[in-house]
Amino acid sequence: MSKIRTRFAPSPTGYIHIGNVRSAIYPYLIAKQSGGKFVLRIEDTDRNRYVEGATELIEATLKRLGLNWDEGADIGGKYAPYFQTERKEIYHKWAKRLIDKGLAYADDTPPDQIEAYKKIARDQKQPFLFRDFRPKNPPAWREGIALRFKQANLKRWHWHDVVMGDLSAGEGALDDFILIKQDGLPTYNFGHIIDDAEMKITHIIRGQEYISSMPNYLSLYEALEIKYPIFAHVPHILGATGTKKLSKRDGAKSVTEYLDEGVLEEALLNFLACLGWNDGSEKEIWTMAELVKAFSLDKVQRSGARFDENKLLWLNGQWLRSFTIDELYPRCQAFFPPPAQNYPETYQKQVLGVLQDRLKVLKDLEVMSIYFFEEPKADVAMILGNKFLRKYQKSELTDWLEQTLTVLEATTWTSDVLQKKLNQLLEITNRKPAELFSLIRIALSYAPFSPALNDTMVILGAQTTKTRIKNAIQLLR
Ligand code: GLU
Repeated sequence: MSKIRTRFAPSPTGYIHIGNVRSAIYPYLIAKQSGGKFVLRIEDTDRNRYVEGATELIEATLKRLGLNWDEGADIGGKYAPYFQTERKEIYHKWAKRLIDKGLAYADDTPPDQIEAYKKIARDQKQPFLFRDFRPKNPPAWREGIALRFKQANLKRWHWHDVVMGDLSAGEGALDDFILIKQDGLPTYNFGHIIDDAEMKITHIIRGQEYISSMPNYLSLYEALEIKYPIFAHVPHILGATGTKKLSKRDGAKSVTEYLDEGVLEEALLNFLACLGWNDGSEKEIWTMAELVKAFSLDKVQRSGARFDENKLLWLNGQWLRSFTIDELYPRCQAFFPPPAQNYPETYQKQVLGVLQDRLKVLKDLEVMSIYFFEEPKADVAMILGNKFLRKYQKSELTDWLEQTLTVLEATTWTSDVLQKKLNQLLEITNRKPAELFSLIRIALSYAPFSPALNDTMVILGAQTTKTRIKNAIQLLR
């Protein structure tokens, strides 16, 4: 059997959404599990939607996620070039074959004429099909005029889709669609068929929005005498309500935004691979290597997969906690607040150690760790407005802090000893932990949350801890 060859064929239009990347993961997994090849082809023929820098963004994102391609775009390969705009001659060569067979014709119908045809179809309560208005004497084809496919074989098509099962559609789905636009570049409908054939692609894995065009594609494969590959159309990703296709309005961010917020690559990949796929077990945490082994297209679900951002954050938490500090540290570099640079790696790792369990995304690191690296800005309102502290007089709060200083006098500064001291302090002051510890916590950090108090104190050290408590006393007076 010939080796599996799959492709990811994005259009460089800027924003890389969740669905785009899922369309890359599945073909990647299918290729890797069989020792096949994964190709990156850039479908850049729609010059109106082209965005400068979008290709580089796609490449960088795929690389970050570990979805490395074997051929394509920047690295070339046996079937180069991998940018559609550089393959014009190839499309024209195939187009001429169709013209010679009488299966394609030039079309210079002006737009207002097309509108008039559409009106006729509307008046007759018929769907508009260009083939009903095929020009009698089309001009000779040359660049500057569009080229259309001539549907010569109107029939019902039946085909198999690995995900969607056995499908069929009648001749109403067939039309004389445009193969080559006026600018000489192919439409997606023509370009991808030629490229997949030339690049020996064995599996087309893409979004279900292409299913309705399948009869047109099958008809074109037949006209071109190309043996068509295996098809797998994956269902839409739905918004949180599970009723509509996911859109930016659902609050779903671009893949880059999630990564930039500090969702780990591993978590995002895990999440996206499982968006509409599972192996039938309860397993939720998947490494790339496990996915490569277990993934199969026939277990991709047919109905839409609901996008649940909380699930993504939960998975991210699981991944964050699965790493040792030495593994996690390099991933956090970009997320420490700038003053962290003034501290040695060992200190930064200590901070990370106490925060690891509390991080949701790495971006939280900034607010959650800043007070370990610089003096926090004292904020008396944060103390007096705290829900556990508001009912007390300033003088009472100062008393507790004074007692804290006394208890911490001449203490061995370790986590265990400090915990004992803090417990003693509860007895001495006769306060609830939520009250007393909230006060000390705010005095030390002025942050909305912080890790266990004894751990925080160990990292800050005896002197800083005491100074900050003294400063809070001053503030309250
Ligand atoms: N360029 C198409 C897109 O971005 C690719 C679809 C396909 O995978 O064939 O939607």
